[in-house]
Amino acid sequence: MQPPRPALPAMERTTVLITGCSSGIGLALAAHLAADSGHRFKVYATMRDLAKSERLLERLGSCCPDTLEVLQLDVTDPHSLAAAAQRVQGQQLDVLVCNAGVGLMGPLETCSDLAMKTLFDVNFFGAVRTIQAFLPAMKRRRAGRIIISSSIGGLQGLPFNAVYCASKFAVEGLCESLAIVLRPFNIHVTLVECGPVHTSFLANLQRPDPEGSELQGLDAETRGLYRRYLQHCQSLFRDAAQEVEEVLPVFLEAIVSLCPPLRCASTQLLAPRWPLRLGSPDGSAYVRAMHDFVFGGSEVGGDQP
Ligand code: NAP
Repeated sequence: MQPPRPALPAMERTTVLITGCSSGIGLALAAHLAADSGHRFKVYATMRDLAKSERLLERLGSCCPDTLEVLQLDVTDPHSLAAAAQRVQGQQLDVLVCNAGVGLMGPLETCSDLAMKTLFDVNFFGAVRTIQAFLPAMKRRRAGRIIISSSIGGLQGLPFNAVYCASKFAVEGLCESLAIVLRPFNIHVTLVECGPVHTSFLANLQRPDPEGSELQGLDAETRGLYRRYLQHCQSLFRDAAQEVEEVLPVFLEAIVSLCPPLRCASTQLLAPRWPLRLGSPDGSAYVRAMHDFVFGGSEVGGDQP
């Protein structure tokens, strides 16, 4: 058995702030870093509702009182962001993980204005605001890392996830553009492209019931496709979703690597269809392949059970 590594002095620790730590990837990453046996990290685990901090604190027990601080941070609220940035000021933030995110699924015709704006407010503008709050200090120090929980849906369109994918595409464009400017500042931007992961994400996302009243006015064919999509999604999560612990190494690599890449995938699920998007820029090969993957390539019936 290896002897425990000596703890690093507080000044030499890597300081990491993570958004969306009440559950899922954010919670697991915060717990993992805070419990590091070498005490290499100081973690600011943030969440919009501090009443949800129990799970994280329970996970850690009393093992890391000085490596973890839980802060309130709602990425849609500029005051909350300013207060968190103020709290961290003077601690020189090394790594910012923009992880907070929400989902929205369903036929586009059923997505309300409010639902779409709320989603963009968290997934896109929330990431923008968070980066804006912490970037000036990183620039002054000419050092830092910005890591984003992105998605396969940020690289390729997914059926019945049009608005979610649009928000993650926007995040991809944001980060790719930013990475170019931040190069001389020695600030690395990394998008972690997650596939399906077992978290609260699916349970939390907004989606209409295919048999519910929300879809009453929708054409039968789209309703049929949506039902088939939900079945596909269910089997994809059952057969191919990763445990949170499986995606953590990708985040850790982005935190510790000397020169992390702009994009890293946490799953191979992207591998078969990603080259179609790159190699066939007119997009039709990808649309065909994704349609066949989800709906089976056969004639899709209308409002069939
Ligand atoms: P999750 O368990 O639902 O976690 C999402 C986190 O975001 C929660 O802590 C949630 O807090 C927080 N959040 C939502 N709105 C917020 C706001 N306004 N301000 C601050 N925090 C907010 O899902 P997850 O899978 O860990 O998701 C983390 C990231 O991974 C998301 O960006 C998601 O898009 C991405 N991702 C997930 C999957 C997947 O299959 N799980 C796949 C691809 C990408 P509350 O508890 O307060 O709601």
